[in-house]
Amino acid sequence: DSFEALGVSETILPHLSEKMKITKPTRVQKLSIPNLVAGDNDIFIHAQTGSGKTLAFLLPILTRILDMKTRVDRQSGCFAMIITPTRELASQIYSVMALLTQCCHYLVPCLLIGGERKKSEKARLRKGCNFIIGTPGRILDHLQNTKVIREQLCSTLRYLVLDEGDKLMELGFEQTITEIIKLLYDLPLDTSKFSNLPDRIIHVLCSATRKGGVNKL
Ligand code: AMP
Repeated sequence: DSFEALGVSETILPHLSEKMKITKPTRVQKLSIPNLVAGDNDIFIHAQTGSGKTLAFLLPILTRILDMKTRVDRQSGCFAMIITPTRELASQIYSVMALLTQCCHYLVPCLLIGGERKKSEKARLRKGCNFIIGTPGRILDHLQNTKVIREQLCSTLRYLVLDEGDKLMELGFEQTITEIIKLLYDLPLDTSKFSNLPDRIIHVLCSATRKGGVNKL
């Protein structure tokens, strides 16, 4: 009944308990973390807001990257893309990731949510980042128009998280997400470089419409 027992990386454990005061996994975390740490299958997390679903996918993804024993930094490539229906939710997830990566400063998240920030988003993408968190329209915009995100960043991508997938569909993002996925699948995925990561893109779908649970897909 601890994050350690679920397989969370020792690099994050002290940070999690001491800095973030998070010591006991929630139900959905108990179900999803071992699954994503040990398995290379797609998963469906259905859980209400407040159930701890953000850490249910961020912790195992970060664990896989920290525990692969390969030296990585912000220039190594993007390992995970997290797409959310709203800017607010993207910002929240980004803040959690920024807090988590305080234990490993060499890993850098990047927030892509549009508005007036396009130039600074581009600059950050050029410097390199390991996690992209953002809204569908702006992510697609960068995939189409910011060369570095396609040509360098996303050829290492291993996790695609659709957070609040039901809301993404409700708000009419289906077409945009289909285009993002098409673009991502067109990139040559180099699986030789990070051989301890999954050898394909793992999909994590989250939804708040059903009672708490985790299913393998
Ligand atoms: P979420 O469902 O991801 O939006 O998380 C809701 C809130 O619960 C956030 O403020 C988290 O920091 C907090 N939280 C997540 N996991 C835990 C946990 N295992 N123990 C205590 N608080 C948690």
